[in-house]
Amino acid sequence: MKVWMNGGLVDEKDAKLSVWDHGTLYGDGVFEGIRIYGGRIFESQAHIDRLYESARHIRLAIPYTKQELVDALYETLRANGLVDGYVRLVVTRGEGTLGLNPFKCANPSVVIIADQIALYPKEMYENGMAVIIAKTLRTASSMLSPSVKSLNYLNNIMAKIEAIDAGVAEAIMLNVEGNAAECTGDNIFIVKDGQAITPPPEAGMLIGITRGLVISLAGKLGIALAERNIKPEDIYAADECFLTGSAAEVIAVTKVDSEPIGDGKVGPITKRLLRAYREYIAAGNWQ
Ligand code: PMP
Repeated sequence: MKVWMNGGLVDEKDAKLSVWDHGTLYGDGVFEGIRIYGGRIFESQAHIDRLYESARHIRLAIPYTKQELVDALYETLRANGLVDGYVRLVVTRGEGTLGLNPFKCANPSVVIIADQIALYPKEMYENGMAVIIAKTLRTASSMLSPSVKSLNYLNNIMAKIEAIDAGVAEAIMLNVEGNAAECTGDNIFIVKDGQAITPPPEAGMLIGITRGLVISLAGKLGIALAERNIKPEDIYAADECFLTGSAAEVIAVTKVDSEPIGDGKVGPITKRLLRAYREYIAAGNWQ
């Protein structure tokens, strides 16, 4: 595999960041995870815009234009012959001193890694997955906005460890008010009485690009949808539940904390949205 680093392609064994990079020392940086379908970058504009927005929030100036980054993404795909897969676009603060001061880091590092991806086994897409509600709460917006896709994922990793300890693949994270915010790497929706419900951005989450697409697909399909707070008891009492994310796409949740959701099978609204999402990808009418 070839990795794009700071303006050119290198062999993956030579793709190394400095120990002085504040990305390494402090998780100081931002990133995007982007799908590749049919040799094209899925929703590239939305991902690049979010990367710049995350960087702006932490006062990190990306040393390339948006178009230069899109060109670099395509260069990386071509170099690796990637037709269907996933790319990780990372911008770190760059090399500095051992002190925290980010402004002593003169040159951000920009890295693009191309890979294959299969986040969850096929069987889970057919029969649904089990999740837990984590005890680890999602970082409050007043601490560090969860809408910043930063390199510091320890908050999510602690909840992921809870999931792994419980023998499941994902964990729902609540916010400090006790409402569902999102999962460790996915956004969450429930369905109750024919209406799809997802937490509002104020619940404190990464505002997923897949989440946005699913909301617009629900509109096109005439599926009622509301953005409102979801409590744990709403999840336990839901008819259906599903997660969205670039890597996960749309996947049903059929069990929470060992209890079945609804009848414990992939529900009809989840199935319609999953199919619509696949059709949207296949139609290719996206940027
Ligand atoms: N929440 C978190 C914490 C994530 O890391 C991600 C991306 N993996 C998502 C939600 C989903 O976002 P998107 O649909 O833009 O991939």
